[in-house]
Amino acid sequence: VTPRTRNFWGWGWADRFPDEEGRRALAEQAAAMLGIEPPEPRAQPRLESIALPGPAIAPPASLSPFSTGAPALRISHTWGKAYRDLVRGFAGDFSRAPDFVARPRSEEELERVLGWCSQQGVAAIPFGGGTSVVSGVERPPPGSRFAAAVSVDLGALDKVLEVDPLSRAARIQAGATGPALETQLAAHGFTLRHYPQSFEFSTLGGWIATRAGGHFATLYTHIDDLVESVRMITPSGVWQSRRLPASGAGPSPDRLALGSEGILGVITEAWVRVQPRPRYRASAGVFFEAFDAAVDAVRAIAQSGLHPANCRLLDPQEARMNQVAGDGSSVLLLAFESGDHALDAWIGRALAIASGHGGTCPEGPVLRDDGLQAGSTGAAGSWRGSFFEAPYLQTALVSLGIIADTFETACTWDRFPRLHQAVGEAVHEAIRRACGSGGILACRFTHVYPDGPAPYYTFVAPGKRGAELEQHAAVKRAASEALLSCGATITHHHAVGRLHRPWYDQERPPPFALALRAAKAAVDPAGILNPGILID
Ligand SMILES: Cc1cc2nc3c(=O)[nH]c(=O)nc-3n(C[C@H](O)[C@H](O)[C@H](O)COP(=O)(O)OP(=O)(O)OC[C@H]3O[C@@H](n4cnc5c(N)ncnc54)[C@H](O)[C@@H]3O)c2cc1C
Repeated sequence: VTPRTRNFWGWGWADRFPDEEGRRALAEQAAAMLGIEPPEPRAQPRLESIALPGPAIAPPASLSPFSTGAPALRISHTWGKAYRDLVRGFAGDFSRAPDFVARPRSEEELERVLGWCSQQGVAAIPFGGGTSVVSGVERPPPGSRFAAAVSVDLGALDKVLEVDPLSRAARIQAGATGPALETQLAAHGFTLRHYPQSFEFSTLGGWIATRAGGHFATLYTHIDDLVESVRMITPSGVWQSRRLPASGAGPSPDRLALGSEGILGVITEAWVRVQPRPRYRASAGVFFEAFDAAVDAVRAIAQSGLHPANCRLLDPQEARMNQVAGDGSSVLLLAFESGDHALDAWIGRALAIASGHGGTCPEGPVLRDDGLQAGSTGAAGSWRGSFFEAPYLQTALVSLGIIADTFETACTWDRFPRLHQAVGEAVHEAIRRACGSGGILACRFTHVYPDGPAPYYTFVAPGKRGAELEQHAAVKRAASEALLSCGATITHHHAVGRLHRPWYDQERPPPFALALRAAKAAVDPAGILNPGILID
């Protein structure tokens, strides 16, 4: 059997990339949506034809048993999966390839990599699944003080090492992907229940390093909430926190590791909170004529103490694009889950709140007590199908020269109306200027809190061949400025990386930047770990 291969320039499995006919059909659909002529599908790059820069350095004997400069691996470790990474990859540009890839099989081998990099002044870039959408895994740009760079791939450390059923926690290695850790936990009857959209390929270490957000709309939204303790190898020694349900002993070491984006150390394992698989589920799709009324309903549910597992509001454009509703309605997808109790009362109360704001639920709630998904049909089913298809769709659109990307944020409820308006105006204006025509902007709430939502925006616009990166950068800049000027964050869960650095620098307090620099200098004196990320 031929092993399944990954698309080396785009998202996911190579065999999921649409054929010529599929791309032509997509071109027609996109053109109808954007009011343009259908673009011609462009030829995909070929792995054998990629011209890589010669490596500045080769693996030394001490690292060679687990390191390689093989072109295919240098290529797959060059970029993450941001829109601009896909465009560069599709153009065959892998000019920032690491000089070699090290894949340590133990902490001892990892310590050897960090020791050698510190001694030689070589940049070490931690690499989990490489699904970063903020340029978090690419080497420093040309002209930096690092002439050589090694990608440190955690993929060989992918085991669930221990399960504590009494405290409901598991010790898991950082390189385990979502499916790898869930399969191993299932053997013990547990689940981590952390499902980012990139679940299939991203890793526990990457989630912790970026403070990833899972599917859960309320309560345990970020991986932060599931982490009990973290083990990280730094050039200055092992950083291991104690397993505790909670602690008031000073600033938490885990809080510094969470979101450290590979600059303080390499996370090798973590104890995480697990739970039995849910048995009871309840879900419903609620339709609203006005988006503002739907926002009010979501706020009331977020403040009700009901804590739905899903509370995803789709604006009319988002509902249309995902084939959930095509009549201009906004749609709220609600779901509750429990391993312990039936949820009729919870979904009933949430629907009563929604109906008090004008929402209707024509199909009624779906209730199950057999552990199966409640929402595999209707609005929830349509949404689920297109949610997992979306990254493949973006990759296919890039091959048609169409700009398609997302950005996300969070703000307090009092600021949301102004933010939403400002983002709409800024993005549409930037698309008009950069692309010379109208584009599409859609919004959904991925997470909601009692004090505010996390809005997630998708934009689609016609690209000009060869100018897509500049056009995209102009729209991204306009969107980011709007977020910051309205008091929102530059990212709710996508992290900072190289892409968000200018706005992150404005968002954080200056003394905190000093503290972060001092922390890095203490644990990474040679400054080799992911240079340029979060701080200079
Ligand atoms: C299609 C798509 C959907 C996505 N959906 C979501 C989503 O729903 N929620 C969400 O939060 N994000 C999402 N992302 C972004 C991305 O998947 C997350 O940031 C994820 O946490 C990255 O994990 P990774 O293992 O791929 O890390 P990588 O991309 O390999 O690395 C990300 C960063 O973490 C550092 N890092 C990785 N592993 C370690 C380690 N062991 N120790 C120290 N540093 C490390 C890297 O140096 C880099 O800075 C999505 C991305 C894509 C492409």
